[in-house]
Amino acid sequence: MYGAGILRGLGVTLRNLARRPFTIQYPEERVPQHPRFRGQEFTWYEQRCTGCASCAKYCPLGIIRIVTDPDGGNEQDGGSYKVDVFDIDQARCMYCGLCVEACPYDALHMGSGFEAATLRREDLVINVDMLKAREKRPSTWFRPQLERAKADPHHGDPVEWREAGREPFPWHPKRPAQTPEEMDHRASADGSYRSER
Ligand code: SF4
Ligand code: SF4
Repeated sequence: MYGAGILRGLGVTLRNLARRPFTIQYPEERVPQHPRFRGQEFTWYEQRCTGCASCAKYCPLGIIRIVTDPDGGNEQDGGSYKVDVFDIDQARCMYCGLCVEACPYDALHMGSGFEAATLRREDLVINVDMLKAREKRPSTWFRPQLERAKADPHHGDPVEWREAGREPFPWHPKRPAQTPEEMDHRASADGSYRSER
């Protein structure tokens, strides 16, 4: 019967008129975002990065490209390579965070953004200069040290590189520079070091 159906429908409308709406008027209104949200704008601390490329190896989509220069950084054991290229293709990223979990030095952190829409996919590639220049506001996801410090990417000060890690810096004590004789001695002792003088 049509009349009963209309009355039932009007009843549903009247009941919901008094309820608070579930939706918000984005982008004028925004819901609070948790500090652990995994979003764009990866935060990278050059000072903490050794150029080990673990993040690139663990990315299941293979969208991180790292090129390092062994001669440009600290060549001794426990040192680091200079990172020339660090590209992250956000257009294909699924924000799983495995790259962040794989970083042994807490150099890479998730970001918190979600509004990097653009007309060209290539504009979504983050490069090393962008990573260097970005304000350091890491997500606290997979970073208990940031949670303990009550860091929040949306409020408060940026996180400085010394505060970003689980381990105090320096994580590897720097060795004094070796003389060529010392290097040769080590090479002959365990065969692990090749002197290229
Ligand atoms: S978040 Fe996941 S998909 Fe994105 S770069 Fe990291 S490992 Fe790759
Ligand atoms: S960000 Fe971390 S995992 Fe990636 S190269 Fe640097 S130290 Fe290695």
